[in-house]
Amino acid sequence: MPTAQLINELQSCGVRLVDPKAGHESRRGGAGPSDHKAMTIDGMTVMVPVHTAPAFASPYLIDKPDELGRSNISRDGVTLGSMSFPLRPRFYDRSTADGIPYWKIAVLHSRDVLATTVLQSCIRYRSRTKTCQFCAIGQSLAAGRTIERKTPAQLAEVAKAAVELDGVKHMVMTTGTPPGRDRGAAILADSASAIKATIDLPIQGQCEPPDDDHWFTRMREAGIDSLGMHLEAVTQEVREKIMPGKAQVSMQRYFAAFAAAVPVFGRGQVSTYILAGLGDAKEAILETCERLIALGVYPFVVPFVPISGTPLESHPPPSPAFMRAILEPLARMLHAGGLQATAIKAGCGRCGACSALSTYEREAVA
Ligand code: SF4
Repeated sequence: MPTAQLINELQSCGVRLVDPKAGHESRRGGAGPSDHKAMTIDGMTVMVPVHTAPAFASPYLIDKPDELGRSNISRDGVTLGSMSFPLRPRFYDRSTADGIPYWKIAVLHSRDVLATTVLQSCIRYRSRTKTCQFCAIGQSLAAGRTIERKTPAQLAEVAKAAVELDGVKHMVMTTGTPPGRDRGAAILADSASAIKATIDLPIQGQCEPPDDDHWFTRMREAGIDSLGMHLEAVTQEVREKIMPGKAQVSMQRYFAAFAAAVPVFGRGQVSTYILAGLGDAKEAILETCERLIALGVYPFVVPFVPISGTPLESHPPPSPAFMRAILEPLARMLHAGGLQATAIKAGCGRCGACSALSTYEREAVA
């Protein structure tokens, strides 16, 4: 089976683990896709659901790994190929002077990305009528796996250690949306300044479109190299159903913000996350991607993962065929538009682990 197809199947169906402790800590709760484990297949490190209901019934199985994290993937008793789990990062063993473990401040995503949620709360999260139905930002906080507000000094300390001890190559900083019109741009800028003063590490900031476009320049000057403003869903009907609070920020505002941000960060350095499987038709997603690519925005389309404990935990993930019908033409559109994951300085698009998109891109280029 070609690698892109296998990754696509695994990300849609999830995988069962003979040894649930295999690999280092899984992503559970938090902002963005979760309930995953990082694994490397044919040189690509990807996040594959292991803690979701569909994963428990997946036809794919990973054997207990050896001491170096190496194992095999099989389906119905037939071995499909080898894989490995990235080893536990060394910076996880450190704590700040006031006793906060570094892994509560930032975590390793994939194999070389440092990721943090600077503010682990959101104006939209506590209200059932406003919260994004797929989001678990409060779960990791409630479970004591993180702290609510990471200070710029803490982030700089952890970033330095992650680079020096584990060879981290770039950093993703997301945030819950705070009250206030900057929508999180101010705390991202403050955090980036402190990190860049300590260590030379490419940073992606992720926030909602701020009220005023001058924030793009502020963030860029503070050291944010690339910017993510995430649509998640692309039609107003699905936006209102799945993320009623965020849907109040119109698509027009998102597109105006993209148009203003691209000249500041550069073509291909602004991106958006689109969750396929929430109800948007394939055609609607591809049409939106076409508009985004024309603007110079990289559309990172990922399969929706039904995170346990969220209102959408029983919502089915998209089928592998649905994902393939989007990712294959999207990879060709990106190639034709001159955008590529590998040219992104930092962030989810460069990491690519939550989607088979960059694997399809590789195939489109080949
Ligand atoms: S794509 Fe983004 S959310 Fe997914 S593992 Fe990479 S950095 Fe983390």
